Amino acid sequence: MSLPTPETMRRGWCPGTLRPMQTGDGWLVRLHPPRGTLAPAQLAFVSELATRHGNGQIEISSRGNLQLRGVREASHPVLVAELLEAGLVDEATGDGPHRLVLASPLAGREAGELLDAAALAAAVESAGRHIAGLPAKFSIVVDGGGTRALDGFAADLRLRAVAADSVAFGLPGGLWFGPVDPTSAPAIAAMLLAGFAAEERVRRGEVRRMRELDDKALVVLSVACGLSAMSTPAIRPSPSPVGIAAERNGRFAVLAALPFGRSDAAGLARLSELAERFAVEEIRLSPWRGLGFCGISKPAAVKLAAALVKEGLVLSPRDPRLPVSACAGAPACDRAAAPTLADAETLSEALAPLLAGGLTLHVSGCTKSCARQGAADLTLLAGEAGYDVILAGGTRDKPIAHLTLAELVRRLEPGQDIRARLETAARHRE
Ligand code: SF4
Repeated sequence: MSLPTPETMRRGWCPGTLRPMQTGDGWLVRLHPPRGTLAPAQLAFVSELATRHGNGQIEISSRGNLQLRGVREASHPVLVAELLEAGLVDEATGDGPHRLVLASPLAGREAGELLDAAALAAAVESAGRHIAGLPAKFSIVVDGGGTRALDGFAADLRLRAVAADSVAFGLPGGLWFGPVDPTSAPAIAAMLLAGFAAEERVRRGEVRRMRELDDKALVVLSVACGLSAMSTPAIRPSPSPVGIAAERNGRFAVLAALPFGRSDAAGLARLSELAERFAVEEIRLSPWRGLGFCGISKPAAVKLAAALVKEGLVLSPRDPRLPVSACAGAPACDRAAAPTLADAETLSEALAPLLAGGLTLHVSGCTKSCARQGAADLTLLAGEAGYDVILAGGTRDKPIAHLTLAELVRRLEPGQDIRARLETAARHRE
């Protein structure tokens, strides 16, 4: 097993189960179970492992992965052995992506889905996973064409069902190709991936994402794979990331988000007890940093949703914490210069109307930026006695000010300067 070294921990490298990442509270072990699915007893098992081998803090990432924090170096081999024995590890080895495909937490189950997106996602993962030379963060979104659109998630390649027998390929820059028969789609996706990996600039490490290729190169690549250009499929409204959703078979699912995507092991164990009590068929990991409790009756879904709210989970799509990313922070993480979670709670209240309008906020305890990759409308980086304030950027971008939490909250009040700048940015985005 290869363990992390300064070289493997370079920027752009992704942690997984077999190769954890060093953070300020020990190793972070990222876990993606097969199909992003857990039985209730498996969720309880993961929570037990998080206590036995780590500090009991668990996250769900915006790619629908479980992250166990504070894992001790000596414990890691035993943790991996237990996860492998339980059949909970599904990741590729090597330098490329651990997992390629992101699909809806209700893929294959959702009422209104045009085809079985879970089966398509599995076929695409299987066809593309072993293509050599793909950059570690390369990703594919598979979308069954139902109401749970994944348009808000970044991807190098999108496969979207546009009819029960047609799949379209979306490339960066709003380029669409196809449609093709769903049975041909995985092989074509693999050809696109292999063509990208063979590009000279990709092989030299100068290009890491599809979006870094210009439109002409993307068209040439797609035509070489036998695809023709097509018009953009209809835009669908963004789905609610939480709430009760109808499944195909007359059953229902409850989608709930963990506050800031986090829970402690005891909280996760209680969620598994609730899942057992309500006879949940399976639990899906959600890229909206939560869990989908699937395969129950409507009355059971209503009661389970109420029980999850009592457990502190987010069930309202208007909850201001949903668009906020915050890392573990102090005191959990040694590197953190501030209690980011508590501060994020305060800031989400102060910014509730703007957050409801689509503003993104990221509160980070250090530049490592564990909670969010890439830019947010407002990034706050903890430093000595306050936060660096970064607009439309990430933790490594230039701040416009350094403020204490109290000063920051004051300057986020209506009519104050930072608030005004965020409101202007939001208006431009519209
Ligand atoms: S980003 Fe937060 S959780 Fe990650 S290492 Fe820095 S302080 Fe710790």
